Amino acid sequence: MKVARILYPVKTLGPGNRVGVWLQGCSIRCRGCMSVETWSFEDGIKEDPILLAKKLSKISNSFTISGGEPFDQPKELKKFLEELKKEGIEDIIIYTGYTEEKVLEDFPWTKKLCSLLISGPFIAGLETESGWKGSENQKAKVFNKKFKDYYRQFLESKKQPLQILGGTIVGIPSKKQLINTYMGIKS
Ligand code: SF4
Repeated sequence: MKVARILYPVKTLGPGNRVGVWLQGCSIRCRGCMSVETWSFEDGIKEDPILLAKKLSKISNSFTISGGEPFDQPKELKKFLEELKKEGIEDIIIYTGYTEEKVLEDFPWTKKLCSLLISGPFIAGLETESGWKGSENQKAKVFNKKFKDYYRQFLESKKQPLQILGGTIVGIPSKKQLINTYMGIKS
């Protein structure tokens, strides 16, 4: 599994303190994507999905998986999620640039292994006030009904201050926030 970065504690991509795993490689390539460094399939660190899941499950019970495009590495992603599940971890959010319909058609196991799917490409110009998504077209689907209330506050949240973790901007910024934060990092 090619991994771009792993960060903890991620506080802006779901409730609580989360392990954030960004997979490397994205074939969708949305115009205006803020993570272009994760596009190449040549870069990143190769990890065994099962060993990585075992290791990370010691850190937290809450995971957010993003990218890059997680579903561009479906076999590895599935192994990683299955191992997390074996470790008793169910609070798993996945961000994908594919639509929910495509994910469920091509990767039906997602319903069982992911509790909240945030789906759809980033479309520049479709600004949103929602804190959990980058453009208004993106959708959220809770697959694990036991987490419905738990995710509610996050899914109703408005844009919030971004987190800087390991020199990386973590969160879903508005255009204005992104420029201000980037200037702050540079100065
Ligand atoms: S799917 Fe995500 S990582 Fe890929 S280009 Fe779109 S916003 Fe960027």
